[in-house]
Amino acid sequence: MHGERPHRRAWRCRSRRDLETGAAKMPGCTREVIYNTAPMPKITFLGAARTVTGSKYLVEAEGKKLLVDCGLFEGSKELKQRNWDKLPIDPASIDWVLLTHAHIDHTGYLPRLVRDGFRGPIYSNAATHELCALLLPDSAHLQEEDAQYAARKGYSAHKPPLPLYTVAEAKAALDRFRVIARAQPFAISSQFSVLPHDAGHILGSSWLELTITENGKQTLVVFSGDVGRYDQPILKDPESPTRADFLLCESTYGDRDHPTGSVEDELAEIVNRTAKRGGSVVIPAFAVGRTQMLMYYLRKLEEKQRIPHLPVYVDSPMAINVTGLYMSHHEDHDAEFNALENTGSHDPLNCHEVHMTRTVEESKEINDVTSPCIIISASGMITGGRIKHHLAHRLPDSRSTVLLVGYQAEGSGGRALLDGAKYLRIHHEQIPVRAEIVEIGQLSAHAGRSELLRWLSGIKEKPRQTFLVHGEPPAQESLRAAIVEQYRWPVTIPDYLQSIDLGT
Ligand SMILES: [Zn+2]
Repeated sequence: MHGERPHRRAWRCRSRRDLETGAAKMPGCTREVIYNTAPMPKITFLGAARTVTGSKYLVEAEGKKLLVDCGLFEGSKELKQRNWDKLPIDPASIDWVLLTHAHIDHTGYLPRLVRDGFRGPIYSNAATHELCALLLPDSAHLQEEDAQYAARKGYSAHKPPLPLYTVAEAKAALDRFRVIARAQPFAISSQFSVLPHDAGHILGSSWLELTITENGKQTLVVFSGDVGRYDQPILKDPESPTRADFLLCESTYGDRDHPTGSVEDELAEIVNRTAKRGGSVVIPAFAVGRTQMLMYYLRKLEEKQRIPHLPVYVDSPMAINVTGLYMSHHEDHDAEFNALENTGSHDPLNCHEVHMTRTVEESKEINDVTSPCIIISASGMITGGRIKHHLAHRLPDSRSTVLLVGYQAEGSGGRALLDGAKYLRIHHEQIPVRAEIVEIGQLSAHAGRSELLRWLSGIKEKPRQTFLVHGEPPAQESLRAAIVEQYRWPVTIPDYLQSIDLGT
């Protein structure tokens, strides 16, 4: 109860520099401590602080706790260890979870949260729920495989090695989902109400306007989630926020823009030149979003007769299911995609000759295809999955092409190929790289730097504070400088586990 909560001390940064830039906890910052006696809402950054994964923001008001997003940390060993550390807050004390979108770095901790005692509802729209119903059990399956691998290799902190969570625990988390409308206000409680808006990032993705009421006073906090791209096919463009007292803005590409240039032209050229050589195009692609975008472009090029009707193998059971969801959620489609669908002349996410392979046997049979074809398979960074055996077969063939279409992290197979590796280690074998390696960088699902600044441009009145989250420090510093220069807003880059009062 709010009346029973002891009044606490709160400080605010008062140095001149901090007032100008909003920088909190900067070295050398001189703080004037203010003793604040009024209870006020508070936010704690439990993830995606100075890194791009683990999104989790705890918002508290009148003694109630709402967790916005519940993502898994991914990447370095140190980051992944955080998934195993005890959450700094007892999951049983959290009242509700609210999701921006289905990506694992925003939802992948849910099974662990439920396993460790969370018993409230998890709110998301229908598309996000349906995507999570595919992604969370898949994530659990990978966790179980990791544990089995550790058991075989004899290394693990746990004896016997345990998965972070099991498929059964993922299913228990799915039971707690409650679907809310795509873009209508929803009252979670007397303290919290939310209005979701289109974020244009993946199917179902939203940014959230959260109104917090404490002591009769309202505070509006905007959570960007992940912001998508403008003028991309299939999904609507991101809507811009128009007001915010406090704003959490992602900053994944805060320091750079995506390449410009026509995806259609580049893709047509790559397919034609490879087919002419008698080779095949192998595309490692994320199952959610990128695969659907590739299918859209390939079909469009076929319709325009700019590429031949090659057999296209979509070798990812997950991607096949996700494509079904992309087709069925009309509320996410932009006007162009709706128009394409309404003509009914063709299926815009399927090529003329498409083969969906679900079983491992079907997947292996693709190796027997000797005439030119296109193979799309996961994982997108060549860190695992069926793409590996396709590459083992096709990389030594100088007629073929490997097309990289997404971000390739340091240490991944995709990055090695981009860096000109002569061999790639796949399934304990050194595979010679003779195929052509090309990249199309325009297919990112994240807003680039100028697009983030464009997304922010709808806000006319300076927010009291803008928090940059979901980015690496160089990208965040660069975006902070751009926001301060362009809009003169105070901008803070919060630390992991930092709590900040959202008071006056
Ligand atoms: Zn995302």
